[in-house]
Amino acid sequence: MPVQSASAPSGGTLFIVATPIGNLEDLSPRAQRTLAEVAAVCAEDTRHTRRLLGHYGIDAELVALHEHNEQALAVRLVQRLEAGESLALVSDAGTPLVSDPGFRLVAAARAVGIRVSPVPGPSALIAALSVAGLPSDRFAFEGFLPAKAAARRERLQKLAGESRTLLFYESSHRIADTLEDMVVAFGAERRAVLARELTKLFETVLDGSLEALRDRVQADADQRKGEFVLVVEGAGDDADAALAEGRRVYALLSSHLPPSAAARLAAEITGAPRKALYATGQSSTDG
Ligand code: SAM
Repeated sequence: MPVQSASAPSGGTLFIVATPIGNLEDLSPRAQRTLAEVAAVCAEDTRHTRRLLGHYGIDAELVALHEHNEQALAVRLVQRLEAGESLALVSDAGTPLVSDPGFRLVAAARAVGIRVSPVPGPSALIAALSVAGLPSDRFAFEGFLPAKAAARRERLQKLAGESRTLLFYESSHRIADTLEDMVVAFGAERRAVLARELTKLFETVLDGSLEALRDRVQADADQRKGEFVLVVEGAGDDADAALAEGRRVYALLSSHLPPSAAARLAAEITGAPRKALYATGQSSTDG
């Protein structure tokens, strides 16, 4: 594959423009100018983006680009770019391509040598990381966990030994279940930060053990409203590593033995607490 030349791109430019995650003041002056100057703005939800642009008095041509039409539409948009028009891509909130559509369009544009240029700005994951107070030099962004309980728990089990800080996006109707599953997968004491409604009226950043956060969210319906980023401390010490290994061994044994025997043996082999391993087994069978 040829390396894209930065010096001699052909055609117009595809600008990838970040938009606010709640607070309308967070659209940068350069983002405003770019959105006003391009030939068209590709948006996930054109009604939502029209409202945003209306706030700034920008009257742009809007093209609906979403997961279902992106592949087909990319061909036509690349033709416009090749013909010399510049276009912008935005999503409903934050930075396009971050748990949002756009990578197919960017790939298609780059493949033919179109200049793709970022107009950086808000992203919920970076906003959450910046206020979490958890190690941030290395981190792993996991996006949304699977919606189905069994798949979600399996994913969390696989992440139990990850030493980097973990970031997840979560919605209001699953936040309580996800915290419950994290208590089981990562252990009750693992530190975490729940960043809710960032930059909005009800912005709340809660920190504590996973168990304390779960209890708070279960007890207070207000803490289940809105949009969330969950930041979870990585597996740090030997105890976390033993728990992760215990769960791996338990998963292998439990297909041949009853849960209690599998948990006892896995605990003996790895040094992980038997109760936590047994709880893993219960949670993976009851959802
Ligand atoms: N592209 C966006 C970005 O850069 O952050 C993310 C889009 S993703 C479809 C939407 C998810 O981001 C929400 O479900 C929530 O997890 C998170 N999110 C977006 N805005 C948020 C906010 N103001 N506070 C907390 N989380 C937010």
